[in-house]
Amino acid sequence: MYSIRKIHLEPTEICQAMCPMCDRVTLDGKLNPKITNASLSLDDIKNMFPIDFIKQLNEMYMCGNLGDPMLAPECVEIFAYFRKHNPKIYLSMNTNGGARKPDFWRNLAKLTNHITFSIDGLEDTNHIYRKGVSWKNVMNNVKEFINAGGKAKWDYLVFEHNEHQIKLAQQLSKEENDALLEEFEKRLREMNLGFKRIRGKFGNKERSFIIPNISRDEIVSLGKDFGQEAVIWGTKEDGKMVYQYIEGDETKQKRDVVLTGPEVDIKRDFYSQEPGGPELHSITYPKKGRGGKPIVRTAHKFVIPFFDEKYEYEEEISEGILPELDEQIHKEFVQEIKRRISNTLVEGRTKKSRYQNRKIVRYQWSKKVSALKKS
Ligand code: SF4
Repeated sequence: MYSIRKIHLEPTEICQAMCPMCDRVTLDGKLNPKITNASLSLDDIKNMFPIDFIKQLNEMYMCGNLGDPMLAPECVEIFAYFRKHNPKIYLSMNTNGGARKPDFWRNLAKLTNHITFSIDGLEDTNHIYRKGVSWKNVMNNVKEFINAGGKAKWDYLVFEHNEHQIKLAQQLSKEENDALLEEFEKRLREMNLGFKRIRGKFGNKERSFIIPNISRDEIVSLGKDFGQEAVIWGTKEDGKMVYQYIEGDETKQKRDVVLTGPEVDIKRDFYSQEPGGPELHSITYPKKGRGGKPIVRTAHKFVIPFFDEKYEYEEEISEGILPELDEQIHKEFVQEIKRRISNTLVEGRTKKSRYQNRKIVRYQWSKKVSALKKS
């Protein structure tokens, strides 16, 4: 039995760039003579990672200390090998994004859950640290990847020479996010599904969708295609609406409560229907009121209180102190808690994701106390 659930793969020493602080580069700006530009082939990967090992993994990501993974000659084939033997695995990669042909990025959009592009500035500054990286290539590749349905993240190292461009970079990143939303809406239309746009704010702003009459399988598969950490799906059970919080394929919790009303309306971090959203706190209906003016109403907010003990649905949750656990006997529980805690520490996670992971830790802990009390 294996106990490793996540791997960080460095598939190559090749890179087209010469970032001054990279181990590829000597202090006087030359290529480190110890770099051999070696790469792992698909056959190497098959020998190192047997299929039954891949099947039980949660995550594999490629990142490089001595090379950029995009330049591993069989990068796509390696991702495809992991995906083929574990359709649920979370796959991602960090890259400077400035090489390879459009086909490569379109393939990665289909195979990975997200790609982190390391872009330290804009057209006139990125190359100051990312020496040798062409801005034009990066932008083309990011667009190619996003337009093919890939989820892109932007990793921006802040230096004196690019700190004044952070706002502009955020604007550019917003444009890319808009393109992804457009792609998502297009997919919903192709599936003949109607939808309502909603907005929320939890530290960062969010734009979400309510999609009536969608099946669980469809929402789960859309969530994966668009790199969502979780999706919420509701259906009628015994005459009432029951909502599920789903990560990957797995329902983590159920709730039959939606909070609305004046107390929720005055809070900042909840959701409401567009166009007002929580920030503007109002919605304008195109229908004309008296005097031919559009009707403006409060944009009522709502939230489904997942992982909040006050709104337990079917689980019996206990308060109490968890005794010291045998790591072998409670292996899965211990691993899940460790994974969640490390999720809360990963750079670039949204505030909401950190909050949700902490809540799930508390929730799993309470469930464990209940189970131990019963046994
Ligand atoms: S892009 Fe990455 S691997 Fe390439 S030189 Fe820069 S830090 Fe090193």
